[in-house]
Formats: sequence, C-alpha cells, structure tokens
Amino acid sequence: VSTPCQDGLKICCIGAGYVGGPTMSVIALKCPEITVNIVDISEPRIAAWNSDNLPIYEPGLDKVVKACRGRNLFFTTQVDQCIKEADIIFVAVNTPTKKVGIGAGRAADLTYWELAARRIAQVAETPKIVVEKSTVPIKTAEAISAVLHGAGKTQFSVLSNPEFLAEGTAIEDLDAPDRVLIGSTLCEEGSKASQTLADVYAHWVPREKILQTNVWSSELSKLVANSFLAQRVSSINAVSAICEASGADVDEVARAVGMDTRIGPKFMKASVGFGGSCFQKDILNLVYLCESMGLPEVAHYFHQVVQMNDLQKERFVSRIIHGLFNTITGKKIALLGFAFKKDTGDTRESAAIEICRRFIEEKAQIAIYDPKVEEEQIWSDLTGACQMDKIEVQKYVTLCPDAITACDNAHAMAVVTEWDEFKDINYNKVFEKMIKPSFVFDGRNVLDHELLRKIGFIVYAIGKPLDP
Ligand code: NAD
Repeated sequence: VSTPCQDGLKICCIGAGYVGGPTMSVIALKCPEITVNIVDISEPRIAAWNSDNLPIYEPGLDKVVKACRGRNLFFTTQVDQCIKEADIIFVAVNTPTKKVGIGAGRAADLTYWELAARRIAQVAETPKIVVEKSTVPIKTAEAISAVLHGAGKTQFSVLSNPEFLAEGTAIEDLDAPDRVLIGSTLCEEGSKASQTLADVYAHWVPREKILQTNVWSSELSKLVANSFLAQRVSSINAVSAICEASGADVDEVARAVGMDTRIGPKFMKASVGFGGSCFQKDILNLVYLCESMGLPEVAHYFHQVVQMNDLQKERFVSRIIHGLFNTITGKKIALLGFAFKKDTGDTRESAAIEICRRFIEEKAQIAIYDPKVEEEQIWSDLTGACQMDKIEVQKYVTLCPDAITACDNAHAMAVVTEWDEFKDINYNKVFEKMIKPSFVFDGRNVLDHELLRKIGFIVYAIGKPLDP
C-alpha cells in the first residue's frame, strides 16, 4: 500500500448521517495529515457528533471518532466556510424515494442533493472536486455539473464514489472494503480528480481494490449491487414459502445450494424480509430508471423483488394470526427487536414497523423491546405508519426495558431483529411468565428451536416445518 503525502489537503463532507459520519471519520483516522470537516444543516445532529452520545449507533464508531475529533476531524454547521476551504467536497445527503410529483413512490428525490450543489456553486471561489457519496440515479453527475457550473464562478470536477458499507458493520467495511469505486468523466480534468481521490483511499486500501471507471458505470453499479443483494434475500424468502408448504427446511436448502461455488453461501438467510433505508429505495429507483428508458419488462423484473419482500412480511403476520387460533384481537404479543437489523439503532423501512401496523389493525396488544432503538423513534415510526396520534398508538403498544418484561403475560413472542442477546435469554423464565399455550415466532431463525420445544413452546420459524 503506497501512502501518498497529501499534506494540507482539506475535505468537507455535506451530510453527517449514517454514511457521512462513519466514512469521513475513517478517512480522518487513516489520513492524519488531511483535515476533514463534516457539516450538516441539523444542529442537534452536529451537537450529538460533538458529544459523548453520538447520533448513530455503530460498533467501533465512538473509538474512531474519539481518536480524531478535534485533531483533524471536525463536526460543524458552518457549511459555507468549510465549502470555501475544501479541496474535495463529498456530498452524503439523503436521497429518499420521492413522495409527490412525477415518479412519486419510485424515483429518487434529489432535492437535498440539488440544494447542496447550489450552495457549493454559490460559495466556492476556487476549483473543487465534488464527490457523489450519496446513492443517486445514473446521469446525476451530469445534472450536478450543470448546477455547479451554472454560477460560472469556478471549475468543478464531479466524481461518483458510491458507498458500499452496511450498517452494523460500517467500521469494519470501511477499514477493509471489498472495493472502492471511483467514477469520473473521461477528460483530463476528470482523470486527475479521480487520481486525487484514489490517492486518499490508497492510504489504507490496496490499489488493486480501487476501481476507476467511467462515471455512469459507477453510478449504476451502486444501484445494481443493492438490487442484487435484495434479490438474493427475496429469492431465499420465496424458497422459505415453498419450504413451509412442503416440509423442506430453508436452512438445509440454503446450505446445499450455497455450497455450489457459483452461488456461494452468503446472504442466504431467510427472514421476515429486508429493511433499511437503501434496498427498497434503490430498487425502486432502478425500476423508475428502467421505465423512463423504455424498458418496462426489465422494470417489472426488478419490481418483483420488492413485492416478494412485502409478501414475506404479510406471510409472517398471517402465520402468527393463524397460529394464535385465527385471531390476535386483544392478545398480547411480545415483539423482540425493532431495528431493521442487529447492531444498529436504525429503523428506516424496518419490517417491525409494518408488522406492528398490521398487529394494530387487528387490535392486538404489542410489547416491544429493542436494545438500541430510541423510544421516540418507535413512537414516531408507528404514528406515521398507522396514521394515528401517539395516545391512540399507546392503546395498543407498550415499550419495555427488557425481553422478559415484554413477554410477561404474552400469548406469543415474535423475533423480528436478530440481536445476539436474544439467543441468551432465560427461556425457562420466559415460559413461566407467558400465557399457555406459549408461542414463539422466530422471524430470523436465530433461536434454539429444539430447546424451546423441550421447554414447552410451540415454535414457528421461517421456512421450517412446524413439527420437524
Ligand atoms: P442520513 O439521513 O442519515 O444523513 C443525511 C444527512 O444529510 C442528514 O443529517 C441531513 O440533515 C443532511 N443534509 C441534508 N441536506 C443537507 C444540506 N443541504 N446541507 C447539509 N446537510 C444536509 O442518510 P444516510 O443513511 O447517511 O444516507 C446518505 C446517502 O448515502 C443516501 O443517498 C443513501 O442512499 C446512501 N447510502 C446509505 C447507506 C446506509 O447504510 N445508510 C449505505 C450506502 C449508501
């Protein structure tokens, strides 16, 4: 690994979220001679980054931030000053699915991106490299370049550098990425900018893992990578439905199929369905792009991945209702986990939200426990999903300090997030506290089903026969 000297180089990152925060902190850690300013319009978010209570939970992140904050890593709301001083400006703002207008429900909403670009255009006085860190549709660099150069004040090189980190393992992923992708225009300026950014990553990433491509390939690769990952989840979940109907075991099938080296064993875990802020949004974005390129059949193909995911959540809810003698009205269900996956406090598009919405529709009582998700986040997710105010939601939902309390007097327990601590609960104690017959619905296949059955639970697991 070569470590080019980039003494005095200044980086600014617009957007201090799940991507901007961790990625820039790792750059600051690996490149002590580079100054990294992370800016955001949200004052509370910046205040939290400057406190002991970081705004996001990510294993190992606090250690990295503590090592660099105040040395060469700064969190601030002084957007203009940081833009002015920077040589490289990353833009890591949110790009959610559009809610209204053309493409609503599918296309990416680039409002935040455009606002950031207009700010840069207005404020910058010297040439800048502007890096798309957010996930954006193919051809965004062209639009952004037009916005940036519209002000006519200085020169900009726009690069695409999508982020492939996964929440829950962000620091590991950033420390040893499978690859770093940098897309640029093919002109001399573009290649030079691409090289400058490659030299930053080369401080710790082996050169052969730094891929330099044309900008459109880079933008498209991010959408395709997320679509393939989500497609794999939907494929194994589709198989889980066949297993439940036939008596096959999805974990055995996944193992047998995954040993084929052409297929591989990773990302073959059946579950209640994928969540998170990216998979669904990015596939829908790809669907929209295909439609606008006159490729409706291709759009339809990718759309099935999202539909399968919706079906999987509904299948889980149906299984619970049928298991509990066809009604859950007035029955208490302990919901273990609310985050979209383990080791994060992020609930965006979490399967738990839709599952709770359906439970509330059926007028069940839900007792939720999650080790990391903030209480206010749960209320905000549920009031939004159910279109109810908090007082109304509280008629159906209580939040609990631990799993055992959640299971007290419950008819059933449903695991929706695969937190490691759920494996170590004292299930004898849980069984004593629950109403009989006591049901466990393992939406992640993480519990010891044999042990649970020995204790006396009736166990339903994804893609597994009821009585093996
Ligand atoms: P986020 O919502 O956590 O963070 C975005 C931040 O940008 C917010 O704090 C917001 O206040 C700030 N912001 C918005 N407009 C701004 C402006 N004009 N000036 C300054 N700050 C502004 O989002 P995220 O999860 O970090 O995702 C950011 C992008 O990265 C998205 O495009 C997403 O698809 C992509 N991405 C996310 C992940 C992930 O795991 N979360 C992984 C890879 C890529």
